Amino acid sequence: MRFSPEKLSIPDQRMKPFIDPVEIWNLLNNVKPERSHVREVIAKSLDKQRLTLEETAVLVNAVGAGLMDEIKEGARELKQKVYGNRIVLFAPLYIGNRCTNNCQYCGFRVSNRDAVRKTLTDDEIVKEVEALEDNGQKRLILVYGEHPDYSAEYIAHTVKLVYGIKKGNGEIRRVNINAAPLDIEGFRKVGDSGIGTYQIFQETYHPEAYGWYHLGGKKKDYEWRLTALDRAQEAGIDDVGIGALFGLYDWRFEVLGLVRHTNHLEACYNIGPHTISFPRIKDAQSLKINSKYQTGDEDFKKLVAILRLAVPYTGLILTAREAPDVRREVLQYGVSQIDGGTKLELGAYSDSKNEEQNLNREQFRINDPRSLAEVIDELLTSDYLPSFCTSCYRMGRTGEHFMEFSVPGFIKRFCTPNAILTLSEYICDYATEEVAEKGWKVIDKNLEKLEPSVILKIKEKIERIKKGERDLYF
Ligand code: SAM
Ligand code: SF4
Repeated sequence: MRFSPEKLSIPDQRMKPFIDPVEIWNLLNNVKPERSHVREVIAKSLDKQRLTLEETAVLVNAVGAGLMDEIKEGARELKQKVYGNRIVLFAPLYIGNRCTNNCQYCGFRVSNRDAVRKTLTDDEIVKEVEALEDNGQKRLILVYGEHPDYSAEYIAHTVKLVYGIKKGNGEIRRVNINAAPLDIEGFRKVGDSGIGTYQIFQETYHPEAYGWYHLGGKKKDYEWRLTALDRAQEAGIDDVGIGALFGLYDWRFEVLGLVRHTNHLEACYNIGPHTISFPRIKDAQSLKINSKYQTGDEDFKKLVAILRLAVPYTGLILTAREAPDVRREVLQYGVSQIDGGTKLELGAYSDSKNEEQNLNREQFRINDPRSLAEVIDELLTSDYLPSFCTSCYRMGRTGEHFMEFSVPGFIKRFCTPNAILTLSEYICDYATEEVAEKGWKVIDKNLEKLEPSVILKIKEKIERIKKGERDLYF
């Protein structure tokens, strides 16, 4: 049921800017928590309750011996409680780097004359997607610059194209989008093409800082971007992703901005964001950013743990912008999705020979260049359960993160079984013998945790997968 403010006679906050920098700075400057208060807030989160802005500020401002370790430990415990050991895998596919904006941190910005501009043709998209399918990918996020060439119709066209590309047992079962904000009609067109999540990062929630970095094009307009996902909701897209680009402004402000955005979407639409992303700025062609707000590794780890505790039922996405050692550590604090085998250069999945030319077509440098197979190998070695599950989206179970968290037994009935089935497919179709062996062991361990009746059903489906059936899910 949709939230309707008229009926409750409270002011309609939809489409209105909802960030008040004075409110956020007041909290950051004035909340000076006692140790006992920090512990109460962690306990509230472990009781699976979302934190308020003020309670999040308590964690952000926590100082004192061992308190940060308690926050990280709390995040670790919450992740185990809510999500278990599943990690969902995906890959980004850059469709085009034309852009009319002038974001000072991005290699695609219009003022970067060295960038080789390119939009993949339909044939090239087919080749890229086939290459991704050959590696075992099932979930993609399509990424576009902001340009008249990338209209809502064009984005919808590329989504439908990708869903139709099948090679061997390969197919893409969920297409997410990271593209510019649209108007309501535009969101409706893209929504109708069958997307999973529409993801837009605010970059920085601080209006003045936003102005320092966004020097041209439509993206200059802070409010147009801030209210983008409200328009998406109005257009019927209720699966949205938010994010901030860490390094543009004080990381503590951005954490509160993300929590405020989450609360706003929940209050207005009864459904929070599906995912939160927290990219850190990485080296891009002629990057024009000073290092004043650079977020160091320790602060980065801290902010991931705080976000986990603040919004227990929102998915957290960590990308290959981060190096393997940082990824390894923050995975424990509640990340639920990572990419594997990522290539940002346009056309690079199917044409890795052309490295030199590709370098001028990438948005920024990644720090985890490992293949999907290597990422899966490490996840299995560390006892995670890699998952390519797309079941909830295809069964219409939207808001699945909320269900995982609030519906008793949901993870054991749906998430773990579907992770096991999609991993079984991966093992049968793409894994080396060594990875297969590790994979079946992890599957056996995870089966042990389930009810006997569910185990039977999963085993029956695994046998069918071994005989060649695909796309079996609960
Ligand atoms: N053009 C669309 C937009 O700006 O929303 C979508 C695509 S943009 C390529 C995706 C995201 O990449 C941006 O929202 C930004 O947060 C991130 N990004 C840009 N430059 C970056 C850099 N140098 N390091 C890390 N992330 C960056
Ligand atoms: Fe264009 Fe997006 Fe890069 Fe800004 S971040 S220059 S809008 S591609």
